[in-house]
Amino acid sequence: MNEIKLNCSACNSQRSMNATKVRRLSRIVVVIGWILTIPSVLGLLLAVLVFIGGIYFTSSTFDNFGETFPLIDLLIYGSSFYIGISSLVGGLIGYLLIMKKKVFKCSMCGFIIDRD
Ligand SMILES: [Zn+2]
Repeated sequence: MNEIKLNCSACNSQRSMNATKVRRLSRIVVVIGWILTIPSVLGLLLAVLVFIGGIYFTSSTFDNFGETFPLIDLLIYGSSFYIGISSLVGGLIGYLLIMKKKVFKCSMCGFIIDRD
């Protein structure tokens, strides 16, 4: 791991600053981020399941009736696509809210400076 240590400019401790990560935003925003991210992950799983289910369903109707039902196909793949895209967007926004930033943090006084 990253073993670079810096001297703290706030409390003047020698090599007390460690490379670490801290939350970019306040606790409430991070909670909102998780609320967005968790259903988005589940939504993506659902979209995949609907898509796979759609493949089975449409191929079985093809077998039984000798032709597909385009409207049903459209509904299945359309809803799968819609759930997938909205989950992806929600998850991305959620991830941006809970993402951590790289910093050096002083173990003595808690002073923080950005790493990148
Ligand atoms: Zn310090």
